[in-house]
Amino acid sequence: MPTVVVATGNPGKLKEMQAYLGDLNWDLQLKPDELDIDETGTTFLENARLKASEVAKALGQWAIADDSGLEVDALDGAPGLYSARYADSDPARIERVLRELEGQSNREAQFVCAIALARPDGTIALETLGICRGEILTSPKGSGGFGYDPIFYVPELGRSFAELSPPEKEAHSHRGVAFRQLMPELKTLDLGR
Ligand code: IMP
Repeated sequence: MPTVVVATGNPGKLKEMQAYLGDLNWDLQLKPDELDIDETGTTFLENARLKASEVAKALGQWAIADDSGLEVDALDGAPGLYSARYADSDPARIERVLRELEGQSNREAQFVCAIALARPDGTIALETLGICRGEILTSPKGSGGFGYDPIFYVPELGRSFAELSPPEKEAHSHRGVAFRQLMPELKTLDLGR
């Protein structure tokens, strides 16, 4: 069974990635805490490539990374690349977005997820970008998921991401879209190389 290191320190994302990659018969290992990669890229894809590549090279193993975030139309795409750093905690980040959108009628937003898989020498084998459109609620709803899930509403489902079961979120989320795009190639990839 090939070993693939998941280049994230975020337990919420690790759990979701394990669910997506569960069928592949890979031995998924979490990146060591002390291996911290600076996210210096200017796009989600650049950051995913950087994390996958640096972790793969440092450990001499295949590595998969995602970089994701929330882009709010009326905030010119903020928090965007700064989604994880927009404030000190999930509730504070949510409060900041709600405050910045106060009185704003355009609530449209999207979650974006870039995924990159790197070979042990750090070169990128595969990459993709998944997007999920939705709207920002005026107050949080639901208790599932993580991050901005309680304020991200999906009109087709009539619920926030935090009100979805894990399989429902997997079916609709940016990360789900990205993994489904990658899956046919991941299944045929020869990790022995
Ligand atoms: P990253 O670890 O740099 O990719 O940070 C992504 C940040 O975007 C997370 O810490 C969350 O705040 C937010 N985010 C990404 N994906 C999701 C999601 O599926 N639900 C809620 N928030 C998310």
